[in-house]
Amino acid sequence: MKLVFATNNLNKLKEVQKMLPNSIELLSLKDINCFDEIDETETTLEGNAKLKADYITTKFGFNCFADDTGLEVESLNGKPGVYSARFAGEPANSENNMQKLLIDLKEKTNRKAQFRTAVALNINDDKFLFEGICKGNILKEKNGEKGFGYDPVFKPVGFDQSFAEMTSEEKNSISHRGIAIQKLVTFLKDYKI
Ligand code: IMP
Repeated sequence: MKLVFATNNLNKLKEVQKMLPNSIELLSLKDINCFDEIDETETTLEGNAKLKADYITTKFGFNCFADDTGLEVESLNGKPGVYSARFAGEPANSENNMQKLLIDLKEKTNRKAQFRTAVALNINDDKFLFEGICKGNILKEKNGEKGFGYDPVFKPVGFDQSFAEMTSEEKNSISHRGIAIQKLVTFLKDYKI
């Protein structure tokens, strides 16, 4: 079965293809000649994930899944959440986003946060949602060079290292996206086409 992952992020694609059975051929947006900019205009992670999956299914007719992730910080009432990519404004810039986060949390003692990923799947005429959460704390300063986004300032609960100090395998095994994708993969393995 061909299944589109509504992304052009090759790292995400490779990561997911490794987890899927060989019977599922994962296609990127480029693979289906989709070069459209799909604007994430919804106000929730679930809404944006659905929006992207629905766009592909409606316009290109493929079974498809899409993801959206946000960092939800407790003492900031769940911000930046769905607006994580552009927390410090346009254009999206991880360094500026982290600096803004560290400044906003400067006086706060509660540094609890979670990454949350929503995955929307459209398969045949059915629609499903999966969620992955990774709880942690925002560090006082950056630590580590690996990963992307807020990884250097996020330390998952139960670990001594930030996401940016972990190998991608270590991170994927406990991360929000890893958990949501694992739920999707388990579902697909049992799904009767
Ligand atoms: P996306 O939905 O995967 O594009 O994620 C939206 C934004 O959330 C990204 O631009 C990053 O700023 C942040 N983000 C998502 N996943 C991660 C992660 O695993 N580590 C750090 N930041 C992330």
